[in-house]
Amino acid sequence: MARVTRTVIVKSIRLPRKVFRAFIELEGMYRNMVEQLVLYAVRNNIRSFTRLKALKYRETRNLYPQLPSHYVYTACQDASTRAKSFLRLKKLGLVERNYPEVRKASIWLDDHLWKPNGLTSIRIATHKGWVTVELEPHKQYWRYVNRGWKLASEAKVKLDKGNRLLIIYFTFVKEVEEYKLKGYLPVDVNENNATILVDGITYLFETNTEKLVLGYYYRRKSIQERYDKLYGKKSRIKQKIMRRLKESKRKRDIKWKIANLIVKTAYEKGYAIVLEKLSKRVSNNMIKRIKDEQLRHRIFQAPFRGNQKAIEEKAKEYGVPVTYVNPKNTSKLCPVHNAPIIYSNGSRIGRCSKGGELWHRDVVACWNLLLKALRGDGSNAPSPVGHNLDGSPVPLGSTATHDPIGIPKSLWARWKSLPQIQYATVLNRMKR
Ligand SMILES: [Zn+2]
Repeated sequence: MARVTRTVIVKSIRLPRKVFRAFIELEGMYRNMVEQLVLYAVRNNIRSFTRLKALKYRETRNLYPQLPSHYVYTACQDASTRAKSFLRLKKLGLVERNYPEVRKASIWLDDHLWKPNGLTSIRIATHKGWVTVELEPHKQYWRYVNRGWKLASEAKVKLDKGNRLLIIYFTFVKEVEEYKLKGYLPVDVNENNATILVDGITYLFETNTEKLVLGYYYRRKSIQERYDKLYGKKSRIKQKIMRRLKESKRKRDIKWKIANLIVKTAYEKGYAIVLEKLSKRVSNNMIKRIKDEQLRHRIFQAPFRGNQKAIEEKAKEYGVPVTYVNPKNTSKLCPVHNAPIIYSNGSRIGRCSKGGELWHRDVVACWNLLLKALRGDGSNAPSPVGHNLDGSPVPLGSTATHDPIGIPKSLWARWKSLPQIQYATVLNRMKR
């Protein structure tokens, strides 16, 4: 059994002024504690929570005797986490000031500071005693509650001063069962699509990330130029506007939808997911040789690692195993003849130098990922699962398998899992 956690954000209802004022006071005291503790930790090079608590608990507690004592614990945890990451960045020379700023504070709660009160409200310990806060649960929250997830004892609270309500960050926990492996599902993630191979058929999910990234690139650039002229390079206003560009949110949506689709398909079939092992600095390595600023930006943003991470996260949730294989030559060698495939003029379609058959680049990648997974990291050991893939062209006989079934985003975005193959094939014919 493995333990999986998920954060779910729930808002409270609008709170009475008096109640909300108590939370504003609480937040102020909590922020002060964290500020002082971070300052101390950074000054004395302390990264560990236990050490910080041992050194500062008494003193901090005496400063805020009206607060429930566990706020000192959670403030120490909060502060040591901030100090740790600040010291790491400082070591890398990536910080501008000598001490970290505590600008955005969420109040960390442990099991002594909050309690669930049924499923639609919680109680929070404050300097004014226990306060009951009614929640406004949403669909996602209920999904976790109903699917056997349990609430963890830690939670975080942020204040929404404009709407006079609390934003609560719950952590849900679940134990997932062992998985009976029946096969492999290779996934090839590219800039414009994610391609998967399921039982001999490749599906190509079009993502249009390229357009998304480039479009925002231009908007970003024009905003930058305009505001730099008006307010100078480091203006707050500019930063605020840039943040409003919802680029990241839209990319996240696409990423999670694809991940969901892939992982559910694997889960239903009992397959493990096969991914390319990307080096952590994949973008940097790719970028070194590229001079064109536009292209650099695009590649840097190419969500390779992000997509993989989303798939990994989802896979954990469902208990689906993920295997990694060496990405070397995955799109260069014919999976049938083990001979180089020749791509001309940057085309995504290539011809096998031995058999002369045509291949789509992403299909080749998927088959090679599968073969590598079956061989168990490049060795020639017999296949551990019942796939008939000994290098004979049999499973690849028909031309259909050499062509992916391309599925536009407008379609797959609404799918919950992969539809019947017949349907998908019809779709493909329609497209052609
Ligand atoms: Zn070939």
